[in-house]
Amino acid sequence: MQRTDTDSLKIEGIEESITKRVLALRPKRIAVDPFVPYAFVNELERSASGIVEPVSTLFLTNRECPFRCVMCDLWRHTLETTVPLEAIPAQIDYGLSRLPPARHIKLYNSGNFFDAKAIPPGSYAAIAARLADYQTVVVENHPALLGDQVLRFRDMLPGRLEVAMGLETVHPDVLPRLNKQMTLDQFQKGAEWLLDRQMSVRAFVLLQPPFMEGGAAVEWAVRSVEFAVRCGARVVSIVPTRGGNGMMEALAASGDYTPPRILTIEETLATCLQRVVIKMSTAPRVFMDTWDLARFASCSKCAADRVKRIEAMNWQQVMLPEVVCPECRDVRNGGEELDD
Ligand code: SF4
Ligand SMILES: [Zn+2]
Repeated sequence: MQRTDTDSLKIEGIEESITKRVLALRPKRIAVDPFVPYAFVNELERSASGIVEPVSTLFLTNRECPFRCVMCDLWRHTLETTVPLEAIPAQIDYGLSRLPPARHIKLYNSGNFFDAKAIPPGSYAAIAARLADYQTVVVENHPALLGDQVLRFRDMLPGRLEVAMGLETVHPDVLPRLNKQMTLDQFQKGAEWLLDRQMSVRAFVLLQPPFMEGGAAVEWAVRSVEFAVRCGARVVSIVPTRGGNGMMEALAASGDYTPPRILTIEETLATCLQRVVIKMSTAPRVFMDTWDLARFASCSKCAADRVKRIEAMNWQQVMLPEVVCPECRDVRNGGEELDD
């Protein structure tokens, strides 16, 4: 766990052909500016103290992640070269000057914050100077890229550093096929390493990734959340698996990927709240990623109410009454085609 860049990154146990296919099927990259974050937003999130508070999230423009996960489309807003030293601090200034204040911040860089080719370590001090007033600083990173550079950055922050890692799934057949180049043992050891050094762990879990049957999606997502919490994650964010990167469309065409329905998304969060959140003594928080959620709904009458229910469950961390929709309920009861 002492890697500082990705030159020596080996593809272990992975068929190189998957990587080639992922690359070959890609649509075009979107033009981005190295001095402007490609998105920035203030969102409400329930904090560790139980208060729903604004969190500033900056989606930093930087060099593409060296991994080639089959479900990833984050590379679309990235560059092929490393940004100059002044770029990331300038992006932070740009985003924060346009957002209302918050006490927590996420710096998401579509990859790994501690990849020296993505975020130049020479920028850490200038970045940290801009984060002096934040209680929590969340960055994302692959467990293969943890090391001394993490400690250096941690020591520059007055607030708490939280590292978000993609667990994706604990399904033993699906995880290797995602081309994540990570084992569950590696995730667990990465979490231990962070916790032992006074950092917090957040995990991302995929709902209904490719190569998983739809009927098994809720159970495997919940098991994955349970595993992340057992590894010490205090926050787990569940991400409904989306298409849009070329590879996912090919997997959908071959029957290896189906987008989750909004009912599945609701059921997953509700089950996690009942099976994990209220049972674990560590008081974890489990959130459903709400970005563009309505795309998973097929009934226009209840889509907005379902999204609202999910948001409210994120904030309250308790299961809330189901949405009853006269428009799609009959279809559901008829058992023909489960409509959303
Ligand atoms: S590690 Fe994360 S950012 Fe990198 S390819 Fe995989 S999902 Fe995308
Ligand atoms: Zn409906």
